[in-house]
Amino acid sequence: MTRFELSGGALCLDFANSWGDRRRAESDRLADYDALVAFAGEAGLLDRRQAARLSRRAREAPAEAARAYAAAHGLRDALYRLFSAQARGRRVDASDLAHVNGALHEALPHLRVARRGGTYAWDWADDGGEPLQAPLRPIARSAAELLTSDDLGRVRECDGAACTWLFLDQSRNRSRRWCSMESCGNRAKARRHYHRQRTSG
Ligand SMILES: [Zn+2]
Repeated sequence: MTRFELSGGALCLDFANSWGDRRRAESDRLADYDALVAFAGEAGLLDRRQAARLSRRAREAPAEAARAYAAAHGLRDALYRLFSAQARGRRVDASDLAHVNGALHEALPHLRVARRGGTYAWDWADDGGEPLQAPLRPIARSAAELLTSDDLGRVRECDGAACTWLFLDQSRNRSRRWCSMESCGNRAKARRHYHRQRTSG
């Protein structure tokens, strides 16, 4: 069962979007550490075996799991504020960038190059210790890559009234306003239609 929608166009944005509308607590899908593992699995950061290992380790070490879960929330909040400010042309808070850099500092020592079928690819070292913060590492790296890429100017926040989703606008004229036309786009249209009828009637 898929619990997360991965349509933001970048891993770090999809992670921020695990909270659909920041004004409504019930739209937060990152309910516990297992939800973080589920996100990482659905995003392809963990295979099934790694996910099962992390879940087991979280049950064995609840205090460590609580710290990793708090770290996930902290990183997600910083990512949301940072990219939301960027999307809306507002000043980016230095503490949010510092938070992302802190997560990078934890992540990057675990990065390595692995040989795969005759070629080489970036990979994450399997430290054996199964650190519960491992799912956050590729997310921090994704944020660093997006912040330093030409795509940064394409980051948008949905115009939907009950939606705080971030996404990459890949449209040619950079005019995309909603996370998805089916949900927020159609709701906005229906609302405009309703208001027009009210004011004209
Ligand atoms: Zn939306």
